Amino acid sequence: MCGIIGYIGKENAAPIILEGLRRLEYRGYDSAGICVPGSNGLNIRKQQGKIDEGLAPLLEKAPLHGTLGIGHTRWATHGSPSKANAHPHLDQSGRIAIVHNGVIENHEALREQLAVQGYHFNSDTDSQVLATLIGLHYRKVKKQAPQLEHPLQKAVTLAVNEVIGTYGIAVICSDDPETLIGARRGSPLIIGVGK
Ligand code: GLU
Repeated sequence: MCGIIGYIGKENAAPIILEGLRRLEYRGYDSAGICVPGSNGLNIRKQQGKIDEGLAPLLEKAPLHGTLGIGHTRWATHGSPSKANAHPHLDQSGRIAIVHNGVIENHEALREQLAVQGYHFNSDTDSQVLATLIGLHYRKVKKQAPQLEHPLQKAVTLAVNEVIGTYGIAVICSDDPETLIGARRGSPLIIGVGK
């Protein structure tokens, strides 16, 4: 079980996400992380351990600025508790980041298929397999339908159709810092609008 949160709005995202993660920490506390897009791409801070011992002091030393972001507090199911396995996870291009609650049951088969196509992974999680799959579809969608208004939404839809298992995910892409995609199957996810 993990906790995920995303924010898009007018405020600085990182403090809002950090507070949300503190409230979700009962769902998982072996590591935590946040991703906020900046002018130089996606910026990630993650750390093993409880939020106030790992991520929060790291963010004090190296703050993140931006009005969009996603965060995660982890209870590992696939891959040991570690900084490398902490979310958010990136696709291979480094332009897409996801946080994931749940279990991708066919992650091994998908990992093998992606490895054959030249994709590699820097974590042991099932979640990075999903991030990589979204990235693969995003690249294809951008190529095949360059005029499409919401390519990330399309890529997420295509990727989750290949997944067996449960997920609540939040997905962002450095190409479009105005968009936050959420999707769920079997895991809880709620959207709040306004205060
Ligand atoms: N399966 C993911 C991981 O191990 C998410 C964990 C969960 O939701 O419990 O990182």
